[in-house]
Amino acid sequence: MKKLIIANWKMNPVSLKEAESFFSFFKKEEKNIKNVEVVICPPFVYIESLAKRFKIQDSRFKIGSQDCFWENQGAYTGEISPLMLKNLGVEYVIVGHSERRNYLGETDEIISKKIKSVFENGLIPVLCVGETLEQKEKGLAEEIVRKQLEKDLKNVSSFMIQDSRLIVAYEPIWAIGTGNDCQPKDALEIIKHIKNILDSRFKIHDSRLLYGGSVDPGDATNYLKYPEIEGALVGGASLKTEEFKKIINEVSKSAKTESA
Ligand code: PEP
Repeated sequence: MKKLIIANWKMNPVSLKEAESFFSFFKKEEKNIKNVEVVICPPFVYIESLAKRFKIQDSRFKIGSQDCFWENQGAYTGEISPLMLKNLGVEYVIVGHSERRNYLGETDEIISKKIKSVFENGLIPVLCVGETLEQKEKGLAEEIVRKQLEKDLKNVSSFMIQDSRLIVAYEPIWAIGTGNDCQPKDALEIIKHIKNILDSRFKIHDSRLLYGGSVDPGDATNYLKYPEIEGALVGGASLKTEEFKKIINEVSKSAKTESA
């Protein structure tokens, strides 16, 4: 399977014009993107315009959302539903990003409802899990990640997951937006641990596992050279067009060499 690169633009850029200019930069590169799948997750307010203007249904780039609510419609002021996203052509939804867990108090209970709803709408959740620096230093990384998975996936039957697809991104919180690299071997160990839990506890055998945390053009292939690390969730570097292009190219080149 091709490696998957997901761009999380977070709360950037501040105008549709800039969002369009980022996107058109990548559209020009589209023909060169052969061995990777790319998903761009812009802020909600730009999704519809980008999807229409860049004919996302026929594009090699897919559109993802950075979050969603767990109900499809109703009296939930300010929220955006998975059904609304689906109707706009969105295919992927990031759920449980650590910034939402930290700044917005998103609990595993909330995340589990969102994951279920995303599956029920036929969308693909990108579930983010990962430990804090303090937890890592206490040797708790594996336990924290296991607990998150158990709670976040508790509402979901393996039938539901196998029918659709699940993506899990291991994102150590201390590596997000900090430039502090998680050693690729350490990321690999946690990703194998996640795979074991999904296999044995949830009987999910066809999930895709990604790494996220300060990935840049210089280190992307250090993570993605491992077959177990099937892609990357990229924050900061996805907003720097040249850097993101380099990440895509590096990953694409190394996938080509592997398959040659
Ligand atoms: C992220 O926000 O998911 C992320 C990985 O950010 P960054 O690449 O900036 O660390």
